[in-house]
Amino acid sequence: MPQEVDFAIVGGGFTGLSAAAWLRHLDPQKSVALFEAESVGAGASGRTGGMTLAESAAGDLPGLGDVLNGFSKVLTDLDIDCDLSLPGAWELGRDNARADSPVDWTDSGKLRVVDEVPGGSADPGKLVSGLARAADRLGALILENSRVEKIAFDDPLRPHIRGQEVRARQVLLATNAMSLELSSLANRAEPKFTLAVATAPLAGVQIENLGVASRRSFYTVDLPYLWGRLLRTNGVIFGSGLVHLRHWSDMDVLDISTGLPAELFASIEGRIRKLHPSLRSAQFTYRWGGPILFANDWRPVFARHPKSPHAIVLGAYSGHGVTLSVYLGSWAAEVMLGRRDLPNW
Ligand SMILES: Cc1cc2nc3c(=O)[nH]c(=O)nc-3n(C[C@H](O)[C@H](O)[C@H](O)COP(=O)(O)OP(=O)(O)OC[C@H]3O[C@@H](n4cnc5c(N)ncnc54)[C@H](O)[C@@H]3O)c2cc1C
Repeated sequence: MPQEVDFAIVGGGFTGLSAAAWLRHLDPQKSVALFEAESVGAGASGRTGGMTLAESAAGDLPGLGDVLNGFSKVLTDLDIDCDLSLPGAWELGRDNARADSPVDWTDSGKLRVVDEVPGGSADPGKLVSGLARAADRLGALILENSRVEKIAFDDPLRPHIRGQEVRARQVLLATNAMSLELSSLANRAEPKFTLAVATAPLAGVQIENLGVASRRSFYTVDLPYLWGRLLRTNGVIFGSGLVHLRHWSDMDVLDISTGLPAELFASIEGRIRKLHPSLRSAQFTYRWGGPILFANDWRPVFARHPKSPHAIVLGAYSGHGVTLSVYLGSWAAEVMLGRRDLPNW
C-alpha cells in the first residue's frame, strides 16, 4: 500500500483501467495506484455483452468526438488485442423494417432490421485483462481486494483503504453502479441489475437462417428491449430485463437462481425460443447479470466531484459503456495531467 501517489483511481473496470494505463502511457514519471474492491472486472466490465458502439446512450454529445476511433486508438497504442471487429451493428424494430432485412424474427410483432449503425463487438474478457496488463506493464500499481471505504476530501485527498490512508494529488472515481455515496452519484443516476444469457453453439445453417451470419451485433430501438451478438464459438448472447434495486448494495446479495431474476430468465429464454424456428430447441449454457447505471438524462457523468476540484467522477453510461468507458477513461487521464478540459455536458 503506497503512502502517497500522484493519481489514485477507484474501480478496476474498463474506465479505471483505461485511465490508469493511459496516465502511465503519457507520463511514466507520475505514480498511479488503482484500488479495486474485489478483483479486476468484478463489476459490469467482467460481465458485459461486448457490443462496441459509437457515440453514447444519449447519441452524440457536444465535443464527444469519434468514440469508435478513439477506442481503437487506445487499443493500438496500448497494444491490446481483444478481437475487435467493426462490421456494423443493426437496429431492430417492429415498424419501418428495411425491405432487405436479413433478420425476420417474432417478438411482440415482427422484429426486423430498421437501420445499420457503426459498431461491432469485442471480447470483453480480453479487453479487461488487456487493459489491466497494459496498466501493470506501464507501472501502474493495481491493488485488488482494496475497497475505498471513504475519502477525506482535503488537499491532498485521502482515500481510506483497509484502515489505511493514502495521500493522492488527484482521484478518479470509476465505480459505476456501486459506491454511489462515494462518487456523489446517488441522486444523479439509478443503479439496475441487467440480465443476459448465452446459447450453446449453433450450427452454420441455424446461423444463416437466423440472419446473423454477417456477425453484426443488434439491439432493438423499441420495446420490449432485446440485444445480442454472435460469439466466436457460434453461440449467441441475448440480453434483456432489469432487476430494480432499492440500494446499489442489494446487488451483493442478489441470487439469480431464485425469485424475480429467475422469473426474468425464464421469460427471456421463452422469448428467444419463439424468435425463430432455429432457436426453438436452443440450449442455454450461461445465465448471468451485472450492474448498470442509468444517468437521469442518459448522458454519461464526466465531471468534478462536488466535494473537491481534484476529484473526477466518470461513469453512468446507461448500458452503452464498452467503448465509451475506455475512450473517456483515457480522456480523464489527459484531464488529470492538465492536457485537456472536461467536456461541458
Ligand atoms: C450484463 C451486461 C451487459 C452489457 N452489455 C453491454 C454491451 O454489449 N455494450 C455496451 O456498450 N455496454 C454494455 N454494458 C455496459 C458496460 O459493460 C459498462 O458500461 C462498462 O463495463 C462500465 O465500466 P466501468 O469501468 O465504468 O464500471 P465497472 O466495470 O462496473 O467497474 C466498476 C468497478 O469499481 C469497483 N468498485 C466499486 N466500488 C468500489 C470502491 N468503493 N472501492 C474500490 N473499487 C470499487 C467494482 O468492484 C468494479 O470492479 C453491459 C453491462 C452489463 C452488466
